[in-house]
Amino acid sequence: MAAKDPLVITGKDEMRKWSRQMRSQGKTIGLVPTMGYLHQGHLSLIQQAHKHCHLIVVSIYVNPGQFSPSEDLSTYPSDFHGDMLKLKSVPGGVDVVFCPKNLYDYSNGSDEKQKNENLGGGGVVSCVEEKGNGHETWVRVERLEKGLCGKSRPVFFRGVATIVTKLFHIVEPDVAVFGKKDYQQWRIIQRMVRDLDFAIEIVGSEIMRDGDGLALSSRNVHLSAEEREKALSISRSLLKAKSAAKDGQVKCRELKDSAILTITQAGGRIDYAEIVDQESLEAVEEISSPVVFCVAAWFGKVRLIDNMEINI
Ligand code: AMP
Repeated sequence: MAAKDPLVITGKDEMRKWSRQMRSQGKTIGLVPTMGYLHQGHLSLIQQAHKHCHLIVVSIYVNPGQFSPSEDLSTYPSDFHGDMLKLKSVPGGVDVVFCPKNLYDYSNGSDEKQKNENLGGGGVVSCVEEKGNGHETWVRVERLEKGLCGKSRPVFFRGVATIVTKLFHIVEPDVAVFGKKDYQQWRIIQRMVRDLDFAIEIVGSEIMRDGDGLALSSRNVHLSAEEREKALSISRSLLKAKSAAKDGQVKCRELKDSAILTITQAGGRIDYAEIVDQESLEAVEEISSPVVFCVAAWFGKVRLIDNMEINI
C-alpha cells in the first residue's frame, strides 16, 4: 500500500522549525531514532509510534559518537533509497525523515549549504574530536551503562545517551519509541529521561524476529548463510531458558551455562550471557521477579545481541 512521501529534512534548524510549527497547531510528534538500513523491526516501531502521536519523525543517523575506533562504523550498512521506499510503505506513513550529515558539526554552515552535501544519507562522517573546538559534552547514565554491552563497549552508551539527547532537543518530540531488542539502551534512555526531566514519553517496543527466530538486525546482512544458521542458537537457547524457568528451574547459573554451551557448540563466541533484573539490570542468582536474559555473541566478524524477558 503506497502511503505519502515523507518530507526529507537534513538541517537541525529546519527540523526544529517544522516541529515547533506542528506543535503550535496542536499536533503531537513521535520520534523513532534509527541508524538506517531499515528492516521490519524499525517499521514496527513506527507503527507503535502511530498509536501515540499524530505525526511521525524517523531519524536516520549513524552516530560516530557511539563507536570506538576498533568498531564497525565504516562498514555499517546503509541504503538511503531502499530506506525511503520502506518508509513510504509503512501503514499510516511517516511525516519526516530527518537525516543530518553530521550532528557534531557546530560550524555556521547554513542548512541550505549543508543540504547539498547531505542528501543520499550514505557515507558516514566521524568528526567527534575531543580537542580544540570539538564536541566535549557527554551524557552518562552512570550505573546502567556499565554492565552488559557497556563492559565490552565502554564508550557506546555515553554516545547513545548523548545523541538521543541531541535528537530530543532538535526534534522536540512528545513520544520516542525504542526497540526492546536493545534492552539496555531502552532502559538507559528511560532512566535518562526521568533523571533529566525530559518531557518525553519513552515507549519500548517488542523484538521483531525472522520466522526462524533470529532477531532482526541491520548487522545480519554481514552474516554468511552458515553463520546465520549458527546464530539461531541464540534465540533457541533463550527460548529454552525461558521454558526451563517456567518449568521451575530458577537458578540462573544453570540457565546461563546451558545457553552458553548451546551457543558455543554452534560456533558462537560469547561476549556475555547475563540474567538481570528488568529495571535495574543488576545480575540475579535466582529468578523470583521479572528478569531479562541478555546475550551478546560473535558469529565470525558479526556481534549479535538478543534478549528475552522472563516473567514468572
Ligand atoms: P538501530 O538502527 O539498530 O540503531 O535501531 C534503531 C531502533 O530500532 C532501536 O530502538 C532498536 O532497538 C530498534 N530495533 C532494531 N532491531 C529491532 C528488532 N528486531 N525489533 C524491534 N526493534 C528493533
